[in-house]
Amino acid sequence: MSYCVHCGVELDPTASFCPLCHTPVADPRQPVDTDSPKPFPTRRGEVAPVSKVEVGLLITAMLASVAVCCGVLNLFLHAGRAWSLYVIGAAAMLWLWLVPPLLARGMHLLLRLAVGIGAVLLYVYLISVDLDGRTWFLGLAAPLILWGGAVLLVLGLVLLVYHRSPITTLTILIGSVGIFLLGVELLVDRWLFHTWAPGWSLVVLVVCVGMVIPLIIIRRVPSLREEVRRRFHL
Ligand SMILES: [Zn+2]
Repeated sequence: MSYCVHCGVELDPTASFCPLCHTPVADPRQPVDTDSPKPFPTRRGEVAPVSKVEVGLLITAMLASVAVCCGVLNLFLHAGRAWSLYVIGAAAMLWLWLVPPLLARGMHLLLRLAVGIGAVLLYVYLISVDLDGRTWFLGLAAPLILWGGAVLLVLGLVLLVYHRSPITTLTILIGSVGIFLLGVELLVDRWLFHTWAPGWSLVVLVVCVGMVIPLIIIRRVPSLREEVRRRFHL
């Protein structure tokens, strides 16, 4: 049995060069066995790539048929309530999530995120129509979704710019969780009590800040940064 002189990987007797680093095998005591079958297949099999347009059409057809079937069924079953709006809304949301990114090649990440947030907004709006909940939709649900979407968009933008270091990414993620929850409590309090008395979200924010500060220090001090990278294999 021989090993690659360059990278040390164990070599099959039939290998004339290392499969990893392509260093030629030269072992005078064990010449390359050219007769035995090779351990890897010699023919290269390839699967034809699936057309994205076909996948998009398939998803569209599936979602559209589910939505239409439920809409028709709604006319006969519990016709007094627009229950099919839940299914139609879910189908529309899934379509917006899946199909535009598939068809528009190289669609910008932020645009995809914005379309996805719009889809959630549309779905919750349809639910609020059935439940006669225009007030809670405008007063609570829409602000919460828009706030979450805004945080996600800013987060996406910041991570696109600073995507180099995992420590930076972690710092930004923890920070945005704290800020997001602070906003959630503000919106819920404003809706329920017409006032803002931050409680649990401040605790979470303090914990987040307590995690962010050491991470910033680690990022600033080169020796600490190297130590963390080595220990956590970053
Ligand atoms: Zn090698």
